[in-house]
Amino acid sequence: MSTPVRPHDDFLVFGAPAIDEAEIGEVVDSLRSGWLGTGPKVARFEADFRQYKSAEFAVAVGSCTAALHLSMLAAGLAPGDEVVTTPMTFCATVNAIIHAGATPVLADVDPVSMNIDPAAIEAAISGRTRAVLIVHFAGRSCDMDGICKLCERHSLTLIEDCAHAIETTWHGQPAGTFGELGCFSFYVTKNVCTGEGGMILTANEAYAGRLKTLALHGMTKDAWKRFSDEGHRHYYVAEAGFKYNMTDIQAALGIHQLRRIEKNWQRRQSIWTRYQEALADVPATRPAAVEAETRHACHLYTLLIDEAAAGISRDAFLDGMTAENIGIGVHYLSIPEHPYYQERFSWHPDACPAARRIGRQTVSLPLSPALSDADVDDVITATRKVLGAG
Ligand SMILES: *Cc1c(COP(=O)(O)O)cnc(C)c1O
Repeated sequence: MSTPVRPHDDFLVFGAPAIDEAEIGEVVDSLRSGWLGTGPKVARFEADFRQYKSAEFAVAVGSCTAALHLSMLAAGLAPGDEVVTTPMTFCATVNAIIHAGATPVLADVDPVSMNIDPAAIEAAISGRTRAVLIVHFAGRSCDMDGICKLCERHSLTLIEDCAHAIETTWHGQPAGTFGELGCFSFYVTKNVCTGEGGMILTANEAYAGRLKTLALHGMTKDAWKRFSDEGHRHYYVAEAGFKYNMTDIQAALGIHQLRRIEKNWQRRQSIWTRYQEALADVPATRPAAVEAETRHACHLYTLLIDEAAAGISRDAFLDGMTAENIGIGVHYLSIPEHPYYQERFSWHPDACPAARRIGRQTVSLPLSPALSDADVDDVITATRKVLGAG
């Protein structure tokens, strides 16, 4: 065995967050203030995020998974309703549809952009289709022209899973403001990190109010007003809600992460470009160039390892990189590869061939703004070595 590119005691962790003293100080401030739950910092983070995205309303929640679930409920989905979504996503996207009592229907992705293909959405529409749930995969905007037009034509509610797409724009418009609801993740590995956290954007005031109520047990604040001049403020439970609120400790992280969003994006973009150049000659497929008039959030840098061309299987590549002490990710095995969905919906991976191929060939290289130039060099050296490109 050759000497690994990095020593074992210096394993490069995939998706390590970049946390500064500003976040640490703000969390300490929350701890000292006694506001540990949902308080003024959540309100500030919502206002900052809303402003950053040029959105009307922002509702902070505990995760993107919670954001997606509540969005399905706010959209008024009922049992029997179908929601068309992508097979190239994290399971939370599909689970949100299931938890709302609706039925997910998959539409395959475009093999180059890896985003849901508008023509495949069109083909998946039935008399029961009520909504379309898209994912801007890796931070690359979906074809919003095609998708918005077909949603309008078929009167479908558009919901965006923007877990990868905080900085993404399409023809100048921010991702998450095309649909009636846009859902964001602040999980550890995401572009803005609060440990765990999520946000929902909407231009619909009624949705925003309902989302806030649903996120906190179904309790209404309006009910308080009726008692406001008469001593104790009772709350009313308007419906059976959830415990999906964000806390001030999470928001304390988010406020400062958001202030550095542009700097972190620039760092990731320069790493992304460095990979594109340094891996131009390896026997693997690099990401497609970024489309004109769009901004790619550079959340994931993915390579496709086709065993026939690379002489090594994807899984052997994963093992090889781990042996070089470089942490890498797989985003994602396509949704119909998972036994639960196969059993429940009789799905087969062959039904979405583009997603199946990507899911079986894809690997994500480290792309955190916390990477040093030397770390990036190590990733490139290890990738070339494992692919036999010297
Ligand atoms: C991370 C992720 C989610 C879930 O986000 P959480 O905040 O961890 O709940 C949903 N969809 C996609 C595409 C993701 O990458």
